[in-house]
Amino acid sequence: MISRKQSAQVIIDHFRCPAHQLQLGLKGELSGEPGFFHFGSGLICYGKCSAFTPLSTYRPPLLDAQPQVEIDSAGALLPFDLSEVVESLRREEYTAALGYGARNWAQRPIMRFGYYLARPLLPVTVRKHLQRLALRGWRQHPFPGWPVDKTVEQLLEGVLGMYLRENRDVEWPFIWFWPEGKQACALMTHDVETEAGRDFCESVMNVDDSYGIKASFQVVPEQRYKVPESYLHQIHQRGFEVNVQDLNHDGRLFDEFEEFQRRREAIHRYAEIFQARGFRSAVLYRKVDWLSTLGFEYDMSIPNAAHLDPQAGGCCTTFPYFVGELLEIPVTMTQDYSLFHILRDYSLSLWREQSRRVLESHGVMTYIIHPDYVRGKVEMRVFQDLLGYLRELREHEDVWIPLPRELSKWWRQRRQMQLVKKDNCWEIIGEGRERARVAYAKWQNEKLVYDLQS
Ligand SMILES: [Zn+2]
Repeated sequence: MISRKQSAQVIIDHFRCPAHQLQLGLKGELSGEPGFFHFGSGLICYGKCSAFTPLSTYRPPLLDAQPQVEIDSAGALLPFDLSEVVESLRREEYTAALGYGARNWAQRPIMRFGYYLARPLLPVTVRKHLQRLALRGWRQHPFPGWPVDKTVEQLLEGVLGMYLRENRDVEWPFIWFWPEGKQACALMTHDVETEAGRDFCESVMNVDDSYGIKASFQVVPEQRYKVPESYLHQIHQRGFEVNVQDLNHDGRLFDEFEEFQRRREAIHRYAEIFQARGFRSAVLYRKVDWLSTLGFEYDMSIPNAAHLDPQAGGCCTTFPYFVGELLEIPVTMTQDYSLFHILRDYSLSLWREQSRRVLESHGVMTYIIHPDYVRGKVEMRVFQDLLGYLRELREHEDVWIPLPRELSKWWRQRRQMQLVKKDNCWEIIGEGRERARVAYAKWQNEKLVYDLQS
């Protein structure tokens, strides 16, 4: 069937299934330019397509590529390159085509520069008002999906599901996403913005500890506040983690490459001093290619659906993924600042909704709680309720709550593991295998289901 092969690496990377378990072919010639199209009724994809010319700007109704897929016993023949479409979503290549760049004043360097210069002089209420103004209309954005976008995993599952529907007898094993068969993962991360936040970290650790949850602290090395050795030592000593947050948090890390290179040297030095393996940029500003040159083990700067962040876009996945050697752990939960000050919401309902959706797809819930913003009584209450909710998820839904560096270690080990058949049984080999589980994907009751081996 397959006239022209395309790489199935994106499926192998996500599921860690044996190579050649599902072959992919490309049907016809791809369009010259990428654009928007549907896969099935609900999924919005961005990339090149061979079945028709995808729309260069988002103008529904979109054409559906799914009916063009052909399945046989060896695999799937697709009218698009699956890896390319997944990559362009993860790399947020669709943002310009959605017109988000022009809409968003905060992304124009000159506006941002002016805003950051004026920021210390602006009363907080004015600042919040300006931010709400800049983000107005966000609920009308068609893409990424709100409140969580799972396009990447749904697309991979969509293709796999079509294959298994036609090949129900095929045994389709893979290495389960999380250690010990955990259902999903949750991370608590704290970005330290000002001296007041820094001085509140000890209290925040006490609160985290009272719920049995360890977290990472993203510390700004320069200009914002002093970073005494004793402060770092205390965080490490209590079993929490320190990461580097930007360099000086001026919002200009990604403005010019030459300056970025200069700052990168300084960031390297601080990574060593902080004993940090992870990075987060200020305000979740990002250029993924630049981020991957910073030399960290992992990064946590890319939102899943960035409707409430100054830089629009989103990586459309709730799973960690590799960019070269860098592990990108997406920020999948709305930040505390946006919840309190843009949505003016002091309840858990949005976070519960987002968590539930991530849990359904077995992804990672990445929370950002700023010590600076939970110093108030009401905000502290919300934070504690959230920790209580996470504890509940751990106890009743089998959610794993590690430090980000533990997640990174697991995801790296899992990448190196192999599934091999021994005496008619699938076995996992490689470092960390004792924590890993074999799972099977199946087509059951008209949907794709996962069966975890005990
Ligand atoms: Zn920050």
